[in-house]
Amino acid sequence: MSGAPTTPKAKPSLAVWKFASCDGCQLTLLDCEDELLAVAGAVRIASFLEASSAVVEGPYDVSLVEGSITTEHDAQRIQEVRAQSGLLVTIGACATAGGIQALRNSADVREFVSVVYAQPDFISTLDTSTAISQHVKVDLELRGCPIDRNQLLEVIASLLAGRRPDIPDHSVCVECKQAGNVCVAVASGTPCLGPATQAGCGALCPGYNRGCFGCFGPSEQPNTESMTAMLADHGLSGEELVRVYRSFTGGAPEFAGAADAVEVSLRGADGEVVA
Ligand code: SF4
Ligand code: SF4
Repeated sequence: MSGAPTTPKAKPSLAVWKFASCDGCQLTLLDCEDELLAVAGAVRIASFLEASSAVVEGPYDVSLVEGSITTEHDAQRIQEVRAQSGLLVTIGACATAGGIQALRNSADVREFVSVVYAQPDFISTLDTSTAISQHVKVDLELRGCPIDRNQLLEVIASLLAGRRPDIPDHSVCVECKQAGNVCVAVASGTPCLGPATQAGCGALCPGYNRGCFGCFGPSEQPNTESMTAMLADHGLSGEELVRVYRSFTGGAPEFAGAADAVEVSLRGADGEVVA
């Protein structure tokens, strides 16, 4: 037997970062109660302020980033996060599409600020809410509002194993059929973004007789033109169509483009809304 001592392999370090967000995606990590000890055993959680104020200095092997970029300060901070991260994974609709706060992208943010805050002069913010990938290189995007815990665990396991994560890229309609749901769009004409939305939630909303809100963002090559035509056939007005697209992932280029196309069709030659 060789007497040479072996050095235990260092665990990969994990950091969790927050930008403009509600913390719901970070809470999904904390909600992995049964698996959290195994995760903590496999990686060194070096920085996760939602869970502990103890912070180990970077660099970090893996960073999970929640939230969108809405201020100059955060536009600079994400560059620092990128610089000290091996792999950078964005989690949730805010980080991957700008989130619900991307409603500002098609409106005047100063008007919102003047309505919400008693002293708007103290608010310093950008005109847009943008996805992390619009600022730095992102290695993997995990969709959802919030993310799905099983997908999060699959991503962590795959990173540890050095393989590609097994995340579905089909639409919510496939999950809806697998769940045996009645199609609310066909049965009752309820607006449903499922045909154009990436799977991940298990078709939660159609399972409760509601249309899909598009929380997991556009599926691969979504046919938003057909989607718009189908929704219009179900009697949605132009303004209602715009609202359907400008929801949780309305900042994603495919849904933003679909909303813009409807808005263009609503405007007369002078740019005023005519219908
Ligand atoms: S994606 Fe949804 S759940 Fe996650 S931080 Fe943003 S608003 Fe919260
Ligand atoms: S309810 Fe929505 S997600 Fe389900 S099959 Fe119908 S269109 Fe697709």
